[in-house]
Amino acid sequence: MIREETVFGPIFSRRLGTSLGINLLPQKGKICNFDCIYCECGWNKDGRGDTVLPSAEKVRTDLRNMLEKLAQQGTKVDSITFSGDGEPTLNPEFPQIIDDTLSLRDSLAPTAKVSVLSNATRVHIPEVFAALTKVDNPIMKIDAPTNELVARINKPAPGYDIARVVESLKQFKGNFVLQTCMLRSKEYAFDSSRPEVLDGWMAIVRELKPRQVMVYTIDRPTPAQGLEMFTPEEMTQLVQPLIDEGFNLQIKGAVVPPQQCK
Ligand code: SF4
Repeated sequence: MIREETVFGPIFSRRLGTSLGINLLPQKGKICNFDCIYCECGWNKDGRGDTVLPSAEKVRTDLRNMLEKLAQQGTKVDSITFSGDGEPTLNPEFPQIIDDTLSLRDSLAPTAKVSVLSNATRVHIPEVFAALTKVDNPIMKIDAPTNELVARINKPAPGYDIARVVESLKQFKGNFVLQTCMLRSKEYAFDSSRPEVLDGWMAIVRELKPRQVMVYTIDRPTPAQGLEMFTPEEMTQLVQPLIDEGFNLQIKGAVVPPQQCK
């Protein structure tokens, strides 16, 4: 599903509560440097309706209008969430947009948290990292621990290197949220519960020590067929060693109706 609005919602997010979404990608298209087999926005090749990215000025205007409207209605927002149809940090004005959003949040919705759902591929860029450190919840994706496994589930653009991503995430010194989608696929030879995935992923968690780990499963129609979800009980069992070690795990199964992008 491609979102046409730059500011959308508020919607109910299983991970973030009442969430006002911000889509920094095109109105009729998807742009991402991943092409995840489970992406609710569909395959990249099918999301080429347009390539015009919203400007910082448009985001500022649309967000101000929406926050003023919600304040008048008495609607409380838990999170202003950058998600949308692709990778938000690909918008070249991302740092400016974060500054504007924090300023508008402070004046019009001071209790709302600002969250960014990202695939973590651009944290090594100093301006992107600096912007991410300003938000309440930088939520960074790692679904698999090796380049070969990432290629199966996330299909990254050329140049991706999981080691570089892990190194760049160390800059947060643990002050970030790690997000991981768990699924099984025979066709793509991927199973989050297999030792080749799980053990390496847990080693990365131990290395990065994120303040929270969000584990979830597929929740919406996916571009790849035949993907299998995990139950919350299965996921809890899989991550139990991390829970026992004191990591803060949030485990979310599928809900109906599904509500949050990515
Ligand atoms: S799930 Fe997120 S990271 Fe993956 S292809 Fe979709 S927008 Fe990109």
